[in-house]
Amino acid sequence: MKINYHTHTTRCMHAKGKDEDYVLAAIEAGFDEIGFSDHCAWPYKDFVSPVRMKEEEIENYVLSVKHLKEKYKDIISIKLGWECEYFEPYLDWLKKIVQKYEFDYLILGHHYSPLENGGDYNGNIKTPKQLEAYKNGVVKAMQSGLFSYVAHPDLYMKGYPSFDDSAEKTAKEIISKSIETGVPIEYNLLGLQRSQTEGIGYPHPKFWALAGKMGAECVIGIDAHSPQSYLETAEMFKDSQKLLERLGLKLVSGIKFFNHNK
Ligand SMILES: [Zn+2]
Ligand SMILES: [Zn+2]
Repeated sequence: MKINYHTHTTRCMHAKGKDEDYVLAAIEAGFDEIGFSDHCAWPYKDFVSPVRMKEEEIENYVLSVKHLKEKYKDIISIKLGWECEYFEPYLDWLKKIVQKYEFDYLILGHHYSPLENGGDYNGNIKTPKQLEAYKNGVVKAMQSGLFSYVAHPDLYMKGYPSFDDSAEKTAKEIISKSIETGVPIEYNLLGLQRSQTEGIGYPHPKFWALAGKMGAECVIGIDAHSPQSYLETAEMFKDSQKLLERLGLKLVSGIKFFNHNK
C-alpha cells in the first residue's frame, strides 16, 4: 500500500491547484490511498488566520473531498481529514465538526503554542522553555485520542539553534509518548525538500536516528501544497522509506480512522 495522508488545498491560502488535480497526481504517482488534511478552520472570534480555511468554507471542503472520494473510488481510496493544532479551548468545537461532517481522521500539526493569535510559531522557537511548551502540547494531543498521527514532530528544529540536550530531551519525550500511545510520527517530505533547498532544520537526522533506536512507528507525509508535490517527491519517498527502515523505524501500512456509527 502506497499511502499519504498529508494533502492541502487552496483554501488554506498558501497551496496551489484544484482539489481534483491532487487526486490525479496521486494516481499518476501510484498511490493506493490518500487523505486530504488541509489546515483546519478554527472558530476564532476576533482574529482572522492567514494560513487556514474559514469556518464558512468547511462545507465546501467536505463536499469536494466526498465528491472526489466517490468519483475515483475504483481507482484510489480517498479520506477526509484535517491538520489541526492542539488548541484546548476549541477541542469541543472540533469534536462536534468531526461528528457532523464525518471526518475520517485528524492529524496533529502543532504549529503554535499555546494558541495561534499571540502565541509562538513552533518553527521559530529558540529557548528550552518554548520547547517545553511545544512538547506539552504534542504529548497532550497524543493522549487525547483525537489524532491519527503527529505531523512533523521535529518542527521545533526548524528554528531551534542546535540539537542540544534540551532538543534531545524533547525528542525523547515525544517519541516515547508516541510509542506508549500508539500514535505514529510523520517524516515530513515538504520539510525534507526545503532542508535540501533552503537548509531548514527538519526532518532532523538526530531526531530520526533516535526514533529508530527507540523503535517508533512512523508514516511518510508529503505535506503536498501543490499537486506536483506528489510527483516531485517520488524518488524522495522511496529513499525515505529505505532510510527509515535502516534506522529501525516501523512504517505503518495505514492509520486509524474515526468510526461514525451510522
Ligand atoms: Zn501548510
Ligand atoms: Zn501540512
